[in-house]
Amino acid sequence: MKLIYNRYALPAAILLFTACLCLLAVFSACNPKADKGTTVGKPKIVTTTGMIKDAVQNIVKDKAEVASLMGAGVDPHLYKATQNDLNLLSNADMVFYNGLFLEGKMEDILEKLARQKPVFAVSDGIDNALFLPLSGKTATDGKHAYDPHIWFDVSLWAKAVAQISKHMQEKDPENADFYRANETTYLQQLAALHEDVKQQIATIPKEQRLLITSHDAFNYFGRAYDIEVKGLQGISTVIEFGLKDITDMVELISSRKVKAVFVESSVPPKPLEAVVAGCNERGHRISIGGTLFSDAMGQDGTPEGTYTGMVQANVRTIVQALK
Ligand SMILES: [Zn+2]
Repeated sequence: MKLIYNRYALPAAILLFTACLCLLAVFSACNPKADKGTTVGKPKIVTTTGMIKDAVQNIVKDKAEVASLMGAGVDPHLYKATQNDLNLLSNADMVFYNGLFLEGKMEDILEKLARQKPVFAVSDGIDNALFLPLSGKTATDGKHAYDPHIWFDVSLWAKAVAQISKHMQEKDPENADFYRANETTYLQQLAALHEDVKQQIATIPKEQRLLITSHDAFNYFGRAYDIEVKGLQGISTVIEFGLKDITDMVELISSRKVKAVFVESSVPPKPLEAVVAGCNERGHRISIGGTLFSDAMGQDGTPEGTYTGMVQANVRTIVQALK
């Protein structure tokens, strides 16, 4: 009995050892963390503004992790990337930004990044004829020819959404049908929203349809929904305004008997408060009609934290104050 045991002990031990090695090999192949340097899970998409994050999310749903660099109340014209942003950007598989020089202080970083990974401006690929030229106080040096606030015309923003969908289909062809179907559904919602905004703004009597805000963000809104717009500051909040801008604005408001002006969630309210004080001094009673979401959406988890919710909230505020 002892002899028999000894005869089979060595081959059995070798067999067991080999089996263990095989199992180990199988486990390390299954465990992705064992692969040095590769990340598992969903692709990471980073966007600059919350509006772009919302658009991307409507296309990709749960197929990717989407993060935006700028949260509620953040002014993209002045925004500089933090160390945390640079980490997010370097770990991203894809990056979407607005373009048309909205992210004025991040252009260099985005250009550099575009040499390493897919980086897309959502305004690229849209017919330039649909963009408004920069004018007035905003300095133009040839490079920055167009108004970047394209999300204020829902029908124009729909074209940016379509660009995002196109890039997703190209970069992730396996899920192309899924992205295309989401695009169709979301564009239908945007088309309905566009018509709804048109109808609501039309309820304000024509002579009262003058929208005065902190900066020139609403020109696309004005063109799309037939309302005159005036911003105290230029297209970019970087541009200074003077005492004359305030007195001109007071003059305009008094002569047109405007009922209300609007502050913006991403721009300090002080300059516009000076306009209100100036009007009241001249005996023209005016109030702040409310806060509009201009270059940033509301807090995450609130209705205004989505693009459609933000548009609806703005329209409600405008109609209530001017009608
Ligand atoms: Zn702006």
